[in-house]
Amino acid sequence: MIVHPPKKVLIEAEVANSPLVKNLRERLPSAGFEIVERVSDRREADPEVLEIVAFRGRFIKTCPGTRHYCCCGYRILHFGTQCSLDCTYCILQAYLNQPNLRLFGNTPDMFRELEEELQSHPRRLYRIGTGEFTDSLLLDPWTGFSRDLIPFFARQPNAVVELKTKTYSVGCLDDLEHGGHTIVAWSLNAPEIRRREESRAAGIRDRLSAARYCAERGYWLAFHFDPMIHHENWRQGYGETLDRLFDAVDPGRVVYLSLGAFRFMPELKAVIQARHPQSRIPYGEFIRGLDDKMRYFRDIRVELYSFMVERLRKVDPDLCVYLCMEGEDIWRESFGFSPEEKGGLPAMLDRAVKERMKVGLHCDEWPLPSVWTPESRQC
Ligand code: SF4
Repeated sequence: MIVHPPKKVLIEAEVANSPLVKNLRERLPSAGFEIVERVSDRREADPEVLEIVAFRGRFIKTCPGTRHYCCCGYRILHFGTQCSLDCTYCILQAYLNQPNLRLFGNTPDMFRELEEELQSHPRRLYRIGTGEFTDSLLLDPWTGFSRDLIPFFARQPNAVVELKTKTYSVGCLDDLEHGGHTIVAWSLNAPEIRRREESRAAGIRDRLSAARYCAERGYWLAFHFDPMIHHENWRQGYGETLDRLFDAVDPGRVVYLSLGAFRFMPELKAVIQARHPQSRIPYGEFIRGLDDKMRYFRDIRVELYSFMVERLRKVDPDLCVYLCMEGEDIWRESFGFSPEEKGGLPAMLDRAVKERMKVGLHCDEWPLPSVWTPESRQC
């Protein structure tokens, strides 16, 4: 894994005395710290800089699903943007308009908003994750953010938090009171895709060792095979990663596992070609989906998913496996049922949390609709 500590921390004056900045000053003794009135969005890209800004929007967001596909009803805790692991397929390359690693320094405002939201619907089960606009644990050795976040969620009877990563940075999680409310999740891929397209991220073996380390400390786990990439010998590659996964961890510790075939906004193709000219992934055969993203043809997607579902059912028939942003027809062909037949995808995932983690057992408020509509956005 290639992650260097930031050499320079640029801080907005409004958050100069925040707990996050205090942690960074302690854990990055040789970095330069500079305080400015405002960090501009149009700064030059500088991989050695970490920006700490005061965030003025909503910290809790609804997962950016689309109206046409089954959405999981996940909430995002927006704590920072960008990621230096630089996976070739990363959507953030085309999605974000500012290039540097950035964290929000006003974490007390974040926790206040979280508390208000969770208390406003005490009978709703919240599944909240931090890994949407950056990697959840990339900077954790220096920010120690997980040391505030995990105990906070341990105190919330109606919420679980998912930390999604491609690192092995789990040292800060060692001795925390997590109360069984934290899911540590890894994105996994076939070994060849990890080598070619995720070369700065931790290797599969290191990710799985970190997962086992967390399981031994009572954390719950999740895994995301996303993006699944169709390549020569894909069956062998994904089969090998599945074998290694369940050699490393007990399937009973896994709350859910998702599958998602590679899809991308059309603008991303030119970005991948320019930034990662060695990558072959934009040259597959794609079709424009209902959400305007480019996707593999449906036969390929069904083939990828069916292979994984069959293998996973042999490992643990009760494991909650789901598809990220796919339609009901693809679900039926790959699983033999659609989420609607099980009460909707959010209800399926809520059940998995209740049955495996025993969290939110009192929550009976109807989860978010499984098919996203603009009206269903609640945050
Ligand atoms: S780890 Fe995730 S956020 Fe980071 S570059 Fe890779 S895909 Fe993007």
